Amino acid sequence: LADNGSGFDALWSALLPVGRDASTGGYRRYAWSDADLAARSWFETAAHDRGLGVETDRNGNLWAWWGTASPDRPAVVTGSHLDSVPDGGAYDGPLGVVSAFAALDLLRDQGFRPGRPLAVAAFADEEGARFGVACVGSRLLAGVLSPEAARALRDADGVSLAEAMASAGHDPDGLGRDDERLATLGAYVELHVEQGRALATAEADRPVGVAAAIWPHGRYRLTFEGAADHAGTTRMDDRRDPMLTYAETVLSARKRAHLRGARATFGRVRVEPNATNAVPARVVAWLDARAESEEALATLVDDVRVRAEERAARDGTTVALTAESVSPAVVFDPALRDRVVEAVGPGTPLLPTQAGHDAGVLAAVLPTAMLFVRNPTGVSHSPAERAERADCLVGVEALARVLRAELAR
Ligand SMILES: [Zn+2]
Repeated sequence: LADNGSGFDALWSALLPVGRDASTGGYRRYAWSDADLAARSWFETAAHDRGLGVETDRNGNLWAWWGTASPDRPAVVTGSHLDSVPDGGAYDGPLGVVSAFAALDLLRDQGFRPGRPLAVAAFADEEGARFGVACVGSRLLAGVLSPEAARALRDADGVSLAEAMASAGHDPDGLGRDDERLATLGAYVELHVEQGRALATAEADRPVGVAAAIWPHGRYRLTFEGAADHAGTTRMDDRRDPMLTYAETVLSARKRAHLRGARATFGRVRVEPNATNAVPARVVAWLDARAESEEALATLVDDVRVRAEERAARDGTTVALTAESVSPAVVFDPALRDRVVEAVGPGTPLLPTQAGHDAGVLAAVLPTAMLFVRNPTGVSHSPAERAERADCLVGVEALARVLRAELAR
């Protein structure tokens, strides 16, 4: 592992300081910011150092090619993303891109000659931290986000995605589904740090796992209506307080999700009039819910709604639930998944995942698969996110075996 390790270390240490905030130790690599451009330039250097052709596609995604893109021999693609959430960790995204270059190095060191091209990709704006929509680069490439909608997205300062791209030197007029490019791609394998502790549990205790599916995911808006009143003069029995209904709904959603092995989170809330000395008139809250199947998700959300309505009837309030977006389950290509498991090794655990990824978006247009590298604490989207170096190197070796098998097909 020593040779493989030094290559990995060199790539990792060159990227490590890019976009890291000195006070929090977290990363702020927002799409098309200076930090993002510095991470992109790291990618270009890594590609040039290896004599790989490097290009930015119409949608701002980066590609480094070992071999020449051609529809006659569709490429095996590996990589991830380089952008981050606010004060994110070092591994979410970058581990997949660094491991992709390191796995390519390993194949070359082994004297392997690929039967078709290998591309290393870094997809643009995966986290959606700046413009509020995740996986923008892969969604545009796959045609599941319209170029007009993408260009009109705005950040907190009112800067549109089109303006941010243009000032970073990328022409936003070319955005949109890229059939010419898709025709040159055969499969995408993304390595990612695990964002939970499934591999770190005593039962699994493995450095690398393979994705089974991505859970369906919904965002719902709940509007609780009551009557604004004086916080002092209104007797407790006389109130129609939507905050009370909201609070009971948070507790009940948590309990329902816990009982069903699902996820329910209220992370955003708006109160009107939002005054310390007033019973509120209205509470609007957003529920993020995820479950292992679309039926389980629908049942969970229905359960939350029914209990909120029952509570509202007792509180003299009303509640209305609106689905703002529901993403279906992603089942990764079964044949590719089976080959990936075989290449990684016998007994490799298959893991469901509750987070979105470019590999999930691209599953709509080509066979995709994911490898996960053990995360000892499971913490992600935080400066505390971590993977052991030894596990990262096992991940590189596993990825190289997967690529070898796919490139030989
Ligand atoms: Zn990620």
